[in-house]
Amino acid sequence: MCLFCKIVRGEIPAKVVLENDHVLAFHDINPGAPQHVLVIPKEHITSIHDVTRAHAVMLGELMLAGREVAEQLGLGESGYRLVMNTGKDAGQSVFHIHLHVMGGRPMAWPPG
Ligand code: AMP
Ligand code: ZN
Repeated sequence: MCLFCKIVRGEIPAKVVLENDHVLAFHDINPGAPQHVLVIPKEHITSIHDVTRAHAVMLGELMLAGREVAEQLGLGESGYRLVMNTGKDAGQSVFHIHLHVMGGRPMAWPPG
């Protein structure tokens, strides 16, 4: 079973900031910004490249939770970045789809 599925099952601890029927959000263990939270679906899906229309509700819930987490972290006014790394060239390292919510400092564009 993958690392994030183990977090969903409570077998690996995480600092949870939001949970509902569809998603779980928790602090990234190696933050790349002053605020860095990951939002994941409870259902295992490898990446955005593996979703179909059947996942439309889950994807909507992921984005809505990203917005809610950003609000909770106080990033609504200053802004934040939602990132989904997909595959090798994007540097995806955990193969359970996740949305990075990052903020608390100005972000460069384009990313490295
Ligand atoms: P990505 O590189 O887009 O696949 O993102 C994976 C993220 O998961 C990285 O930012 C890691 O720091 C983070 N991560 C890895 N293991 C854990 C863990 N046990 N708890 C929280 N975050 C983790
Ligand atoms: Zn998984």
